[in-house]
Parts: sequence; structure tokens; C-alpha cells
Amino acid sequence: MGFQLLAVSFLFSCCGWWERRIVHGREPPREYTLPMDEGAGIAVETVGLGKVYGGGTNRVRALEDVSLEFPDGEFAAIMGPSGSGKSTLLHILGALDRPSSGRVVVGGTELSGLSDRKLTLLRRERMGFVFQFFNLIPTLTAEENVLLPVLIAGGKPAKYSDRLDELVELVGLSDRRTHRPDELSGGEQQRVAIARALIKRPDIILADEPTGNLDSRTGSEVLGLLKESASRFDQTILMVTHDPRAAAAADRAVFLSDGKVVDEARNPDQDEILERIKTLESEA
Ligand code: ADP
Repeated sequence: MGFQLLAVSFLFSCCGWWERRIVHGREPPREYTLPMDEGAGIAVETVGLGKVYGGGTNRVRALEDVSLEFPDGEFAAIMGPSGSGKSTLLHILGALDRPSSGRVVVGGTELSGLSDRKLTLLRRERMGFVFQFFNLIPTLTAEENVLLPVLIAGGKPAKYSDRLDELVELVGLSDRRTHRPDELSGGEQQRVAIARALIKRPDIILADEPTGNLDSRTGSEVLGLLKESASRFDQTILMVTHDPRAAAAADRAVFLSDGKVVDEARNPDQDEILERIKTLESEA
């Protein structure tokens, strides 16, 4: 139980608590506790990013000279063969890990100068996370799970009741609000997880194989929701996936191989993605 609580508080330390925009389009001023420069239209940027794990004979170069820009509002898919560095990149973009070399800039602020405490604040205030295995708390109802980031950040759930209503409707769970996770299908659980990631209006959603545990129809619905959310709330989505159908929903697919960016495709279709992945896998 202790471990569960620790895991939960870690998970939700990634969620934001500020009010960026209230329901129905009126925008109050941002109330960040972590002051940052606003980056000119670029949500996240990496410059010459490198990551090395281990040393000696166990040394692995997981990322090498990765330079990427993700504009505000972009839905980007990060693809590549297994072991190509996708998860490592997502963790660094999400300020969950630090690079060995190079720079990560989020909203105009370089992360290397930030302490661990400030990185935690950054995750809370600017980022939302969606995982393959929904990571819901089994003893809480759907709406309690959605509100958990608010509770963990010490916020007042009542202040979020409009937002909760809006999200529950967006993800199509109005008639499942008081159901517990074991009373929900996989797709419904992932919808709860998406609403949970969105409750505090993060600028950036990081998604790690969000459709990996879903059938194709439910996966498409979940992707539709992510897209809808990104355009409705002007959010940037960075999604790691090996699923060409999922990547085809993105504005851009970035391809990694052996820790390097080797290709990208704008508004890719499924066949194009499949072809590029096949080529990369045959070269790997
Ligand atoms: P992907 O997500 O594309 O499958 P990863 O980012 O998980 O790739 O891994 C990239 C490379 O880094 C792999 O060779 C993997 O074995 C290695 N790696 C990942 N995490 C660690 C770690 N914590 N310690 C040592 N090596 C790691």
C-alpha cells in the first residue's frame, strides 16, 4: 500500500494545478508558480540531445544529437524500432529524466538550469501524462480518478467541477462517473486516464503507447479524443507509439533509429508510416 501511494503521488506529481482557461473559452491570466519565458510558438525544443546509460562494457548510447522542435498545438508521433530511444526521449521531454548532453527547452526555458524541485513544478504545471496501462486507482470512482491530480496538488475539487463536467462529456463517460475501474472497459479506463491528464489544463500531453492496450476501434476513439483535446485546448501532444494507425492521427511522425532522428513525415498516412518503419526495421 505504501508503495502504491508512493507510485500514485509520483504519477500525479506530473500533473499541473493552475487555471489556464476556464470552461467555454474565457481565459483568465496564467497563474504559474514557476516563472518561465514564453518560447515563441515552440512548446518543446531539443538541441543536440544525447543520452548515455551505464559505463564500461554496459555503456549504451540511447540518444545521439537529437534536435527537434515541437510547435505549440502540434500532435507529434515518435516512432522507431524497439530500442531506438523512443521512451528515453519521451522521458527527457517530460522532464522525468535528464540528458547526458544537449539541451531541452520547454516554453522558452532551458531545463538544465532547473533544480529537481523546479522540474517537478514544471511537470505539475505544464504537463499531463497518459500511459499504456491506464494506472487508475482501483478503489476510486471514475470522477475521483480524474480529480486526483487536483487533490494531490492540494487544490479544491469544487473549483474544478465545471472542468470535470466538460471533460467527462468530452471523453463520453457521463453515465460512468461513479463506476470504479474494474466496472469499466479498457477503452473507458483510458478515457478516464485522458480526462485525468487534462483536468489541470496542461500545455503539453506526453503519451506513451496510449493505444497499446486497446483494440483498434477503441484505440481510434482514444486518438480522436486526444486530437479533439489538443485542438480545443490548444495543447501540444507528444506520443510514442509503434502503431502506424496511431501515428497516422498525428500532424507529424518523427522516426528514430539507433538513438538518432532519421526521418519525419508530415500528415502521414498509415501506409507511408508502415513502409518507413519496415525500412528502418530491416536496416536495424
Ligand atoms: P525504445 O523505447 O525505442 O524501445 P528505449 O529508449 O527504451 O528504446 O531504449 C533505448 C536504448 O537504451 C536501448 O538499447 C535500451 O536497452 C537502453 N536503455 C533504456 N533504458 C536504460 C536504462 N535505464 N539503463 C541502461 N540502458 C537503458
